[in-house]
Amino acid sequence: MSKVYNFSAGPGMLPVDVMQQAQAEMLDWHGLGMSIMELGHRGPEFQAVADQAIADLRELMAIPSNYHVLFLAGGASTHFAMVPLNLMGGKKTADYVDTGIWSKKAIAEARRYGNINIAAGLEEERFISIPPQSEWNLNPEAAYLHYTPNETIEGIEFNWVPEVNVPLVADMSSMILSRHINVSDYGIIYAGAQKNMGPAGINVAIIREDLLQEPLLNTPSLYNYKLQCEHHSFYNTPPTYNWYLVGLVLDWMKRKGGVSHFEKINQRKSEKLYQFIDTYAEFYINNVDPSCRSRMNVIFKCKDPVLEPTFLKLATEAGLANLRGHKLLGGMRASIYNAMPEEGVDKLIEFMHEFAKKYG
Ligand SMILES: *Cc1c(COP(=O)(O)O)cnc(C)c1O
Repeated sequence: MSKVYNFSAGPGMLPVDVMQQAQAEMLDWHGLGMSIMELGHRGPEFQAVADQAIADLRELMAIPSNYHVLFLAGGASTHFAMVPLNLMGGKKTADYVDTGIWSKKAIAEARRYGNINIAAGLEEERFISIPPQSEWNLNPEAAYLHYTPNETIEGIEFNWVPEVNVPLVADMSSMILSRHINVSDYGIIYAGAQKNMGPAGINVAIIREDLLQEPLLNTPSLYNYKLQCEHHSFYNTPPTYNWYLVGLVLDWMKRKGGVSHFEKINQRKSEKLYQFIDTYAEFYINNVDPSCRSRMNVIFKCKDPVLEPTFLKLATEAGLANLRGHKLLGGMRASIYNAMPEEGVDKLIEFMHEFAKKYG
């Protein structure tokens, strides 16, 4: 098998060890002669898999006992609706920070359910920096404040946590488990699995107990946090195979040394890539304010955009796949989630170096 490094932004690459384990267990899970995906979700076998994944997530993130953990079908976008449906309550107003395209999608969905105040954001400009909280326009009556700690498309990331007097809600899809966070700073954390935790089709939510309340009238049962928590994510059939795969990724993370291990490597991977780009500023550009450059999604352009199709073609031939930037921004994007080994980033830098020498 030829070695390819997959820089896809999502669904992203999965650890090879995990894929091999899934392959080995595919037809015969733990000697049962059946696949885990063929077993009833309420049977003891899947229940044990489900419980272990939750226990491992709790351990990896040090989730306090007053938080519920949900594994639900759907993506992060499911929570774009669930958060306002469940938290808006009598207040009918919420604060959102708009730092990029994913923030905007969350805002558009929330507007269906209440008054949304944009506490901070840039309407026209490209997102290349994060306004400091001192400039935010917070509404003390807001039901919650929502923000996106890592904007996957623009490659910008908060390296600080907003301090607010209302529940803080974070879409951590593209940075969950990539660095240490303090769960008790948040009211709700949610994430689609397909960036840093597993395959698409399942998401995780971590919800502080006191936020469970009756949702807005007409909320579908499957979108009701309180009901889902009461049923431990088993109100209906959960995506069992995806849950199992997320469990394998969490187990792999634990064996490697947990979040602090990945945080160290992620810091190293991103620093060397940004440093290389800055050193070759004659040839490659990243305009993001260095104080908020993402450790997970490194965007860059060639100074001469005419070279970009050639860059992408030769990179693919060199085994560096899926470096094309998001269609709205163009350029390139290297998504370097937990599963991307440091060696993959070294290979990318080597390739970028050769390319710049040849075409610069
Ligand atoms: C990928 C992504 C989403 C969308 O996730 P879906 O699972 O497709 O709904 C939302 N927010 C962020 C920050 C993302 O990176």
